[in-house]
Formats: sequence, C-alpha cells, structure tokens
Amino acid sequence: MSLGPSADARIPLGNGGLAVAPLGFGMWRMAEPAEASPRARVEAALEAGCTLFDTADVYGYSRGGGFGACESLLGGVLREAPQLRSRMVLATKAGVSPAVPYDSSAQHLLEACEASLRRLGVEYLDLFQIHRPDLLAHPAEVAEALERLRRAGKIREAGVSNYSAAQLEALIAHLPFALASMQSELSPLALEPLADGTLDAAMRRGTAFIAWSPLAQGRLATPAGRLAEDARTERVIAALDAVARRDDTPRTAVAYAWIMAHPARPIPLIGSQNPTRIREARSAYSVHLTREDWYRILVAARGARLP
Ligand code: NAP
Repeated sequence: MSLGPSADARIPLGNGGLAVAPLGFGMWRMAEPAEASPRARVEAALEAGCTLFDTADVYGYSRGGGFGACESLLGGVLREAPQLRSRMVLATKAGVSPAVPYDSSAQHLLEACEASLRRLGVEYLDLFQIHRPDLLAHPAEVAEALERLRRAGKIREAGVSNYSAAQLEALIAHLPFALASMQSELSPLALEPLADGTLDAAMRRGTAFIAWSPLAQGRLATPAGRLAEDARTERVIAALDAVARRDDTPRTAVAYAWIMAHPARPIPLIGSQNPTRIREARSAYSVHLTREDWYRILVAARGARLP
C-alpha cells in the first residue's frame, strides 16, 4: 500500500468550503535575485498543481527588497495576469513587524491586513495567518481582530503559524469560527511536530497543517556527490535516495511525499524559486512510500531505532 494523497485530493481550510491541493507554493524567497520572473515561478507552481500560495508581509525584509517586497512582487504578478487570482488560494501572514519582534495586537493585525491587501492589489485574502505567537497579545484580542476582518469580508479564513498546541487551543477557545490552518517547520530533518502535539492538535481540531521548509531550507537537496552538512543529514539523504532510486523520482519528491504521508495530511510549501525545480515537485505524487520506507526515513533522522 502506498501512503499519501493523490494530486487531485483536496484538503479543507476551515468550514467555509475552501480547500487546497496537497502541495503548496511558498514565496519567502521571492525577492531574492533569481533568473525567472515572479510570474514564471507562480505559473510553474500552478503547473505543479499547487493551489495554496503562501507569502507574508515581512517576506523580503531579510532576503532582499525590504518589508512587503514579496507581497508587492506577487501583487505585480496579479496586476499583470489577473486571471491567475481565481486559480489561487491566497495566503499571507502578519504579526512580525521589525523592529518590534512580534505584534498581534488587534490594531496591528487590522492595519497589517489592509496593507497586505493594498500591496497584493486584491479585495480579500483567502487565508490570513498570525505569523508567530505574540506573547503579549491575549488570544481573545487576536480572535476578535480575526473575527472583525472576517465580518468585514477582508479575509475568508484565519490560521496561525509557529503556535504550540496549547497556544492553538487558547486561540480556538475564543474564536467564533473554525481555525483553518496551522503552520510549522516539518521535514525529515525537523521532526518536532510529530512529537510536540501540534500535528495531533491539527487532527483533533480538523485544522489543516502547513509544513514550512520541507527540504530543511535546501539542506535535503544537497546534490549527489557533495558532502551533506552533518552525519544526520547524510543518513537522511541516503534513506531518501534509496526510495528515489527505486521509484525513479528526485530525492526532493521523496521528502515532500514523506511529509504528505502523515495522516494529518501536512501541506509542504515548495520553497524553490526555480521553475524547473518547482515543476519537478509534482513527482511527489508518484512516490510509492510504504510504511517500511516511512519509518526507515524516521529512524535515519532520529539516529536511533524505535523502541
Ligand atoms: P525548502 O524547500 O526547505 O528550501 C528551499 C531552498 O532549497 C531554496 O533555496 C532552493 O533553491 C533550495 N533547493 C536546492 N535544490 C533544490 C531542489 N532540487 N528542489 C527544491 N529546492 C531546492 O523551503 P523554504 O524556502 O525554506 O520554505 C518554504 C516556504 O515555507 C517559504 O517560502 C514560506 O512560504 C514558508 N516558511 C514559513 C515560515 C514560517 O515561519 N511560517 C518560515 C520559513 C518558511 P532554488 O530556489 O534555487 O531552487
């Protein structure tokens, strides 16, 4: 039996009828120097079958262009090719606003949402996410801001990112609607969500789980023949390569498939900004992962046998 969803599977985001494909596209690196235009990258992601397009107001701040740069680039694509909007579930994030580390006060979230709408040139966001938990914001205040944005038609659904399971529950307790998504780092090198309760919370609540940095920021894509960063990465790469050779797919596809095989149906965000590599991600649907494969990769990452 092969684990994992098919390309035409859809994962619900909230209770309002919104749903996304199992693989999404991330735009954190969109403002970095690249050969292909932002539009070519977006179109490659659509060809790869992505429907969830994930950005953030802060993207570009530390990786070229400044605060808002990645949203503005995506806004440029949508102005040039407005027909693409209807093919996307458009997601952004707010709440990381240098020089203040985190700000999820109601006033900040309301203003940040308006600013994102302006940069993206759209009337509403499909998914508005709190980027990182603000320890100084009471969940009731966050919930009220999200509810106001929904009532005003500025956002369809709301989600969180980098929240613990307990923080998720605290917010849900105050929200008058279902929380659509949570987002955390998850890859064969970032195993925390498997054990820290976040994936369990997602399954308990029916909240979609979005996996950021599915290739461990590119570490899992280290080309064959080049030395991996450390022995653990080396072991994981070897375990992924064994499946890749057998199924005649790129190693990166096996990493995406490993994430998608979890029963919470995590949605890996493709981070590449290279159209060929973005399209290549689609082969994740042709990986035939077995239980044995999945656990072998886990054991390689743990560096210890399971009890
Ligand atoms: P990733 O897939 O782990 O890493 C992508 C990096 O790997 C790119 O620099 C890419 O370079 C490189 N790479 C090298 N060979 C590759 C190959 N064969 N295939 C694919 N990539 C290859 O993802 P990420 O960019 O770190 O993160 C993905 C998305 O997660 C972001 O865009 C963002 O939406 C989200 N994210 C969210 C948070 C959060 O706090 N919520 C934090 C980090 C990321 P090339 O472009 O040259 O291919």
